[in-house]
Amino acid sequence: MNDKILIFEKSKNGVSGCNLPETSISEAELLDKIPNKFRRVEAASLPEITEGEAMRHFVGLSVKNHHIDRGFYPLGSCTKKYNPRRNDRAAGMRQFVSCHPLAPCKTAQGTLQIMYDLSECLKEISGFDEISLQPVAGAQGEFVGLLIIRAYHLSKGRLRKKILIPDSAHGTNPASVTMAGFETVQIPSNEKGRISAETVEKYIDEDTAGLMLTNPNTVGLFESEIEKIAEIVHKAGALIYMDGANLNAQMGIIKPGKIGFDILHFNLHKTFSTPHGGGGPGAGAVGVVKELGKFLPSPILRPDVENNNLLYFDYDCPDSIGSIHTFYGNLANSIRAYAYIRTLGSKGIRRVSENAVLNANYLKALLNDEFEFPYDGICQHEFVLSCSRQKKKGAKALDIAKRLLDFDYHAPTVYFPLIVPEAFMIEPTETESKETLEQFAKTLLAISGEVDTNLEKLTGAPFTTPVKRLDEIKAAREHDVCFKG
Ligand SMILES: *Cc1c(COP(=O)(O)O)cnc(C)c1O
Repeated sequence: MNDKILIFEKSKNGVSGCNLPETSISEAELLDKIPNKFRRVEAASLPEITEGEAMRHFVGLSVKNHHIDRGFYPLGSCTKKYNPRRNDRAAGMRQFVSCHPLAPCKTAQGTLQIMYDLSECLKEISGFDEISLQPVAGAQGEFVGLLIIRAYHLSKGRLRKKILIPDSAHGTNPASVTMAGFETVQIPSNEKGRISAETVEKYIDEDTAGLMLTNPNTVGLFESEIEKIAEIVHKAGALIYMDGANLNAQMGIIKPGKIGFDILHFNLHKTFSTPHGGGGPGAGAVGVVKELGKFLPSPILRPDVENNNLLYFDYDCPDSIGSIHTFYGNLANSIRAYAYIRTLGSKGIRRVSENAVLNANYLKALLNDEFEFPYDGICQHEFVLSCSRQKKKGAKALDIAKRLLDFDYHAPTVYFPLIVPEAFMIEPTETESKETLEQFAKTLLAISGEVDTNLEKLTGAPFTTPVKRLDEIKAAREHDVCFKG
C-alpha cells in the first residue's frame, strides 16, 4: 500500500463504499421535503472510494503511530501501560453511560455504591482515612491538596506561603503550587537521588506550609528517610503531600497514609487502568488523614445512617475548600479502577507492584554495563539512565530515542527528570514478559553500539517512520502553522 497517497487523491467520481436501498421516492420529491435552510449549497467535499479502500485507509492510519497493542512501550513517569479491555467494557455499560449526573441519588444507588466501594478500596491501598473522587487529573489532585493545606493553616489562624519541592519533581508540582497561591522553594536531591532529612531541616521554617514529595520519586527511588522527614515537617507545623503518580510500585507493600504523609493524590488513570494517551480522560482522587477530611471538596459521598445507609451527596460541608469540578469526577475512570482492583484482589494488587519492580530491575541489570547509571542500587517500578557516555561520542539521548523507532519500539521518556543529564527514563510495566525485556535490551545495546560503528545512521534516525525527524521547537511554538500543514 502506498500510504503517501491521500484518501482524497484516491477518490473517483461515482465510486461508493456502500449500496443504499432503492427508494420509491424521487429525488425531487425528497428535496421537496427538506426545508431550504437545511440543504447544502455545494456537494460535501468527501472522498469517493470503495469499502475496501476505506477500511485500508483507517487501518493504515491506526498503525502509523506506535501504540501499546503494536509493541513495547518503555515510557517512564506515565506509569503502567496495562489497561484491560474488559474494564472499558464495564465502563461502557448502558446502565452507567445513561445514568444522568443529576439523577436523584435514590435512583442511582448502584452507581453510587461503586464510587463508595472504590473509595473504600483506595483507603485500604493507601492507608488514608477519607477520599474524594472529584478531581479529574493528577494535577488537579495536587491543586486540591494544596488548597487543603491552605485551608488547614487558615483554620489555625495563619497564612503560610512556602511549599518545599525537590528538584526532581514533576512539572505539575510547582505549577499547582503557584495556582494555589503559594511560593515554590526548590530543595536539592542528594547524590543518592533522594531528599535527605537534613536538607528538609535546613530549608523548613515558620513560613513553610508544606512539603510535596513523589514517592517513589521521579528517578524511580524510594524516599528512604520519609519517616524522619515527616517528623521534621510536622514539628514545624507544616503538612506533607505525596504525589502518588508512582503508586504502582508500592501497592500492598507500603501504605503512604501510615508512614507520615497527610495528603495524597492517586492517578487512577495511571495506576488503575484507564488508557490515557493524548491527554485524557483522567481521575485524580485525593486521600487525606482524618484531621483533614472536613476540608475535602464538596460534595462528599456518604451513607445516610438514618435511612438504610442510602448513599447521598452531602453538600453541607462548611469547612470544605468547595467544589473544584462538576459532579463527582470522571465516572468511567472510577468504574475501570474499581473493576481493575476487584479483579485482582489484594494479593493481585500486591503482585502488580512486585512485578513492576522486578521488571524494572531486570531491565536495568541488562543495560547496566553499557549505560551510565546516576544512582546505585535497587530501583522501584522505573529507572533513569544517562546517555552521557554516548553523547561524548556524538549521539545524544534524543538520537538514541529516535533510533528505537526504527525497531518498532516507542521511545522512553527523555530529558526528564532534569537533574540527570541526557536522561532516559524507562518504565517497562509489570505485564511485559522476560523475553520482551530481553529483546528490548538487546536492541538498545545494539543501537548504543552504533555510536562506534555507524554514528551517521544513529544521528539521522528515524528512517522507517511515516515522517522523519520533526522540528519540535517549531511544532511547540507555532501550532497553527503545523495544523494548517
Ligand atoms: C503524571 C504525573 C503527574 C500529573 O498527573 P496528570 O494526571 O497527568 O495531571 C504528577 N506527578 C507525576 C510524578 C506524574 O508522573
